[in-house]
Amino acid sequence: MIRYKGEKLQQKVAVIGGGLAGSEVTWKLAQNGIGVTVFEMKPAKFSPAHNDDKLGELVCSNSFRSDMLFSGVGLLKQEMRKAKSLVMQAAEETRVPAGKALAVDRERFAEYVTRALQELPEVEIVRQEISGIDDPVLNDYSSVVIATGPLCSDSLTDSILNVIGNQELYFYDAIAPIVSADSIDWDKVFFASRYDPESSDYLNCPLNEEEYYRLRQALLTGERVNPESFESEKHFEGCLPVETLAERGEMTLAFGPLKPVGLEDPGTGETPFAVVQLRAENLEKTMFNLVGFQTKLTYRAQKEAFTLIPGLENANFLRLGSIHRNTYINSPQALTPYLGIKNRPGIYLAGQITGVEGYVESAACGLWLGLYLAGKYKDVQVDLPPEDTALGGLLKHLRTPAKDFQPMNVNFGLLPPLNQKAKKRRRKELYVQRAEQSWQQWWENQVSGLAL
Ligand SMILES: Cc1cc2nc3c(=O)[nH]c(=O)nc-3n(C[C@H](O)[C@H](O)[C@H](O)COP(=O)(O)OP(=O)(O)OC[C@H]3O[C@@H](n4cnc5c(N)ncnc54)[C@H](O)[C@@H]3O)c2cc1C
Repeated sequence: MIRYKGEKLQQKVAVIGGGLAGSEVTWKLAQNGIGVTVFEMKPAKFSPAHNDDKLGELVCSNSFRSDMLFSGVGLLKQEMRKAKSLVMQAAEETRVPAGKALAVDRERFAEYVTRALQELPEVEIVRQEISGIDDPVLNDYSSVVIATGPLCSDSLTDSILNVIGNQELYFYDAIAPIVSADSIDWDKVFFASRYDPESSDYLNCPLNEEEYYRLRQALLTGERVNPESFESEKHFEGCLPVETLAERGEMTLAFGPLKPVGLEDPGTGETPFAVVQLRAENLEKTMFNLVGFQTKLTYRAQKEAFTLIPGLENANFLRLGSIHRNTYINSPQALTPYLGIKNRPGIYLAGQITGVEGYVESAACGLWLGLYLAGKYKDVQVDLPPEDTALGGLLKHLRTPAKDFQPMNVNFGLLPPLNQKAKKRRRKELYVQRAEQSWQQWWENQVSGLAL
């Protein structure tokens, strides 16, 4: 029998879901001596996108996107690092080369997160699905955090709906395929990052004009997974299926994920017409994913289309692309600014289910809720971060009423305007400078009373 390591601790928090947000909430609470039970339904039950029993599983891409400070997601990552985020720590320890992006070996990443939490005496991990907000197992806890992600199990989703009153929304996310390195035709491909020919971070499959149009045609005509099985299908702009991009125009792909700029094919000495980029899945580079090739084509159509890519004619697909429902709630209506369910005090939501979009954003949301709850238990006032920080701007999105509330990636557009004119590059610098100052003040005034 598993003994609850935190049973001598007075405060106990139940965190439902050991994904990115749930792991961050748990980490911050435990660091502050607060007992946490994580209820994770894997491995007894898997969502349609999860397939590993570890905590902190990355379901699709292995990238945390740009690591450049002068971008919304770069700034958010810097703030998370300052707040000693577990996800950022795990990402640093398990990163794989990916140019200007922060990408990780997903296996090692999840192992790191799982081990870090398992080792904390305040944390107990129970492998059990929580069937509803009123599940009796939650009665012993003074606070409950629902961090069940965009693929929250059905019965818990229904129970949340009953409580908040049918304010749930849906959209759909697609997953990109992975190929094994030993099945790639290495004579046709080359390593390089855009504008950095020496880099071996991306593997490039060059396409001439004819090959590009042939691939586009296959994407357009390939059979798709029946949309009827997904009720009203609505996609997130940041994660559009590759075939949807192909439909938007002849050159949309060539100007988008297949853009060849900054890449020279060493075989010809020229810039190809288009380039499919592959990114390593692990440090050993035995597996590569097709960047931007998330898709809802049938498996058969995917194989037909993707084997038209030069170098991938005989590819062995270790994972094929797929599409999944992505659930989030109308947070500005249903939640307090502190992510508590308005009509159920003591129950909080964190992560993608609140309407933030992306690994980094989900983890950041969990990190903030962890700090806030730790503050509550320790009598340290932790208010929302200033709106001109990346985290503050992101959280503001969750409390800003909108007619058509949509999930949101972090970006500078969420921050208040600068009130001064400047060129694009300078504007980014100004956003970052202002955010850094505000963060520092907030941290010193409010958060420094917590353990990190
Ligand atoms: C198919 C798909 C692909 C995506 N691809 C990307 C991508 O490439 N890049 C990106 O940045 N973002 C992506 N996202 C968006 C999102 O950022 C991730 O889903 C992210 O993992 C969300 O973090 P989370 O902590 O909120 O939820 P998750 O990481 O999904 O964690 C939720 C956890 O809760 C558990 N759980 C669910 N219900 C219960 C229950 N009732 N009881 C107990 N445990 C439960 C699950 O097993 C899971 O472990 C994708 C989303 C989907 C659906």
